[in-house]
Amino acid sequence: MNKFLPINNKKIGILGAARSGLAAAQLANKLGAKVFLTDIKNSSNIKIDGINCEFGKHSDKILESDLIIKSPGIKKNSKIIKRINDSSIPIVSEIEFASWFTNGFIIALTGTNGKTTTVELINSILKNDGLVSFLGGNIGVPFSTNVLHEQDNLNNKQIFHVLEISSFQLEDIKYFKPNISIILNISPDHLDHHVSFNDYLDAKLKITMNQDSDCHAIINERNILSLHKKSKAKQITFKVSKNDSFFIKDKKIELDIKNSLLKGKHNYENILSAFIACNLCGLNKKSIINSINTFKSLPHRLEKITFKLDYIFYNDSKATNLHATCAAIDSLESNIVLILGGIDKNNTDFSVLKKYQNKIQKIVLYGESRNFINEQIADYFDIYSYKNFGEAIYKSIKVAQDKNTVLLSPACASFDQFKNYEERGNYFKKIIYSYYEKN
Ligand code: ADP
Repeated sequence: MNKFLPINNKKIGILGAARSGLAAAQLANKLGAKVFLTDIKNSSNIKIDGINCEFGKHSDKILESDLIIKSPGIKKNSKIIKRINDSSIPIVSEIEFASWFTNGFIIALTGTNGKTTTVELINSILKNDGLVSFLGGNIGVPFSTNVLHEQDNLNNKQIFHVLEISSFQLEDIKYFKPNISIILNISPDHLDHHVSFNDYLDAKLKITMNQDSDCHAIINERNILSLHKKSKAKQITFKVSKNDSFFIKDKKIELDIKNSLLKGKHNYENILSAFIACNLCGLNKKSIINSINTFKSLPHRLEKITFKLDYIFYNDSKATNLHATCAAIDSLESNIVLILGGIDKNNTDFSVLKKYQNKIQKIVLYGESRNFINEQIADYFDIYSYKNFGEAIYKSIKVAQDKNTVLLSPACASFDQFKNYEERGNYFKKIIYSYYEKN
């Protein structure tokens, strides 16, 4: 029994006016709650009909709420959370809140890397099969927005919600119960937000916490040993072996995906987990494989740049941790010129890269963490170091020889010099295109 329902006439406080907060406010408003939205940032241009808003401060008004929906970005140890906890007002995440109002079948996926690629893949497989699938969560469209659409479209068709879920969104769940959960992989990331790796792992495992015995949890055997201690889900483990064979619960299966544009062992893991999820939804193998083989890979994830070039370039700007960078290196041949840098979030041990001495020919460093990285790997590689991203890219073009592959896979966040990883990746491509157009 959900003790918060029904919500009509309840006072719902929304903490944080980013995309998911605004969507939750709209959903709560539509369902008849009295909504109050507050954000410490001054965004007075935001106006939503019927919703009381406060910007630039958190007054005591939020403490009058019956329930608070918190933005994933607000830290557990912030002052406002302390005040709310002292008042004993329950806090839930937007994902949790939206899940109370759907009749759809939920496939929820988390992991350190590969989330976006895999949820996009699952969504396209379901849609190609003629099913009604909504893609949401951490991927741009909040779950609440899709649930609002679902409420508007009462045509009795089975609806699927494919959700990408970050560890932040899992921190404040209570009843959230996906029909299928997927944990793709877990490696240290966002340790600037979580207190420790165990804290991060616990947050990820929560995706299985409320699943009962008619739910499934699809788990990468390489990373996870057990589900959340309260979970009753049927566990389905998967593995891609060293020679790229596919295993589901230790049983080898054949998947003819040689035409897929998703390359590398890491992508085979993404494909296998998507295959299992869609198969559980009742789709047949042939239709799933057809969709996998026609799926277009996403920009900024090991994106091959095929301009009339003498050398091959890969834009892997979305690789913001070393785990993703290692996945990129593993899936390429040798002679790599690797561009690393930006802001390290995790106090990363970059000396791990020494195992790639045979594959990496040169490393070009840039940005705020360049000296931190350099100290750890200077003994093993030929290194060039630049403060400025653009200079680093020009240098990598200059030092690349015939048969070199230039790989931008920075293993760091972008925000010392860019708004986000997309801006960094687009700038990388722009420099390369303009260089080769002139030369
Ligand atoms: P996320 O949404 O989890 O950030 P993306 O699909 O956007 O994942 O990919 C982020 C980065 O991780 C890219 O550099 C991509 O090449 C790499 N990547 C994708 N899938 C995996 C995986 N299964 N394991 C490790 N790295 C991966």
